[in-house]
Amino acid sequence: MDRLRGRGMHRGMKANGSVVCEVKVEGTWRGVSLDEALTRHRMDRKRCSVCQGQVVIYGAYTLNRRPHVAHYRKHAGCSLDRDLYSGTLSLHPGALA
Ligand SMILES: [Zn+2]
Repeated sequence: MDRLRGRGMHRGMKANGSVVCEVKVEGTWRGVSLDEALTRHRMDRKRCSVCQGQVVIYGAYTLNRRPHVAHYRKHAGCSLDRDLYSGTLSLHPGALA
């Protein structure tokens, strides 16, 4: 399983297929679903699992009730941001370590 960690574009995520972000729990970044991030990790710092930039999660309790993740600062080197993505992955300039 460890071989899949890191900055891959295809990290087989949770079984339900929801996008994940990472939260820092006891000094370690851990991938969680957006639902978890919104509930159990409301107060924790969150970062993008692709570019490691800080993200904000919006709980969109609308028709499909799907939470949504956005970069705190936009970054063109992240495939998560489809509108802005340059086509080349790069680490966020403000990546959280
Ligand atoms: Zn990102």
